[in-house]
Amino acid sequence: DRQHDGRQPKADMRQLDAALCQLADSLLPTPEERAAQLQAFEAVRSLLQARYPGARVHLFGSVANGLSVRHNNDIDVCLELEEVAGDDQAAKGEVAVAVGELMEAAGMTEVLTLPKARVPVVKFVVPRTGTKVDVTVNNMLACVNTKLLADYCAIDPRLALLVALVKHWAKQRAVNDPYRGTLSSYCYVLMCIHLLQTRPAPVLPVLQQLPATFRRTVGQWTCEFCDDVASLRGFGGANRESLAELVWAFFEYWAWRHNYSSDVVSIRLGGCLHKDDKNWTRRVGNERHLVCIEDPFELTHDLGRTVDRQTRAVLHKEFTRAATLLRDADDPLDALFAPY
Ligand code: ATP
Ligand code: MG
Repeated sequence: DRQHDGRQPKADMRQLDAALCQLADSLLPTPEERAAQLQAFEAVRSLLQARYPGARVHLFGSVANGLSVRHNNDIDVCLELEEVAGDDQAAKGEVAVAVGELMEAAGMTEVLTLPKARVPVVKFVVPRTGTKVDVTVNNMLACVNTKLLADYCAIDPRLALLVALVKHWAKQRAVNDPYRGTLSSYCYVLMCIHLLQTRPAPVLPVLQQLPATFRRTVGQWTCEFCDDVASLRGFGGANRESLAELVWAFFEYWAWRHNYSSDVVSIRLGGCLHKDDKNWTRRVGNERHLVCIEDPFELTHDLGRTVDRQTRAVLHKEFTRAATLLRDADDPLDALFAPY
């Protein structure tokens, strides 16, 4: 399918860019929504700190990294307890049960505790703000990857706008559900960072290849990167691509350029690895490695492992639909984001 390489969209790019910028802006949370989420976080934090005086409580995920979109009223909270080891699933499960009871007693609604999940979690709603909360225990890799994404966000504003549009597209097209074999929001963010790192004139640097100014060890993983974003602001200045050009580049890459049979996307290295390099060449248990996106820190973790043959075909069909619409339609916007 590679004969499309180099083709340009048919639409007037300036008009398309104006429309996409407006749409992206309308998807960003309002100050009121942000305030409600932070208020919900403070309520949860003070309950947890009263119950676990030595604990630290972190906000992570999209509300913390600057990549949240409207109408997704979820916050991710991590309870950090020194007395619970990072790999002690049973102990984390027990804490989850206790936190569930604590939240129930405090008047939180729709409390659901999943102590046996891969990542034990307590889910509930803060009634005053209507905010949905996920509390996890010692989920320190997620806190560190949240910081990495936040630092990328601070370097070039085009990342947050591209992510808003890609997340919105993925929700509308029903390809944002890792439990059903498509990709997580976190995975789409990594795909956006990969694109911006690999433009002919890069929009984003590769923070894990620069001299490290931030270091944290989490279990067996050493997390190191340059977090001196102040000195990197303006890094993408040599790249003048508009949001519309980047949206086109994103879909064109995943429709026609990405080599699904050999490539592993790595934002750690700022390019692609070969599946052989990671030994991600065949199915092991439920991990099929049909679409490979390396986690920046947990290097054995393939964010695409949830994808099977059928859902890879669905994803590829959706990427191709989006790229084809952008290439051929005079006014592609409504169809691009039409509900599936
Ligand atoms: P959304 O706006 O859709 O909630 P999000 O970025 O908050 O997007 P979530 O799926 O809620 O995404 O995940 C919250 C955070 O948990 C992510 O930002 C990331 O730090 C971490 N995370 C989620 N899924 C994974 C995963 N499969 N592997 C590692 N970390 C993950
Ligand atoms: Mg979230």
